Amino acid sequence: MGAAGQQSLAGDRGQPRYDGVSMGKRIIVAIDGPAGAGKSTVARRVADRLGFTYVDTGAMYRAVALWALRRGVAESDMHRLEQLASEAEIEFRPGSKTVILNGEDVTEEIRTPQVSAAASTISALPGVRRALVEKQRRMASEASVVMEGRDIGSVVFPEAQVKVFLDAAPATRADRRIWELSDRDGAPDAASAARDLEERDRRDRTRAESPLLQAPDAAYLDTTSLSIEEVEESVLKLVRERTANGKEVMR
Ligand code: C5P
Repeated sequence: MGAAGQQSLAGDRGQPRYDGVSMGKRIIVAIDGPAGAGKSTVARRVADRLGFTYVDTGAMYRAVALWALRRGVAESDMHRLEQLASEAEIEFRPGSKTVILNGEDVTEEIRTPQVSAAASTISALPGVRRALVEKQRRMASEASVVMEGRDIGSVVFPEAQVKVFLDAAPATRADRRIWELSDRDGAPDAASAARDLEERDRRDRTRAESPLLQAPDAAYLDTTSLSIEEVEESVLKLVRERTANGKEVMR
């Protein structure tokens, strides 16, 4: 938890307050958008500031994809893939980037280009989505969350109090992804990283099941020329505006 998140003040009815947000009831902050829009960085920082649980749903699709690759399950074997998605035990270590699949730390392994491509493919399957959406809803029933993905505000939590759609120019998104992958072994060259990103986005936007789209009541934020701090502040402002004493503000 970040320094600001630790400054909890006694709020109404003795409930804790974090950064001006009263914690009377569970709050869901849904952050969607294409790859490279800045979702993970911003969602993690906002979760830290608010003292909420951060959930990276892309990591969940990636973890299932990794498991399927290891098991040699064919991309066409929908039944088996749904079974893996439903049986996968996926955990996030609070305050870190660590992702645990069935007790094993897979944080690094789920970021390879091969897993990215497989995650993008299996995430189009309704059965896989059903299984992971169920886990995501369970996570939010246990704590206030900042959850990021592609369908959080549109499908997983249409009732989320705060919805943000983060976007950025394609060239900026590709640059960010290249930078992110640059210190990894076997990092792809710039051209192939940009191509992979474009292809994944196309698939995410055009699939029949839960395509990437902006929910009608989501705030659109173009992060192309904004700093991380500016995006973080905009999201926090939205959280404060849309929650009042822990009650949803009528919109
Ligand atoms: O966010 P990230 O790039 O790690 O996600 C990996 C893949 O998982 C995406 O390309 C997308 O196809 C899929 N995904 C999804 N729905 C989500 C989160 C991720 O379909 N809520």
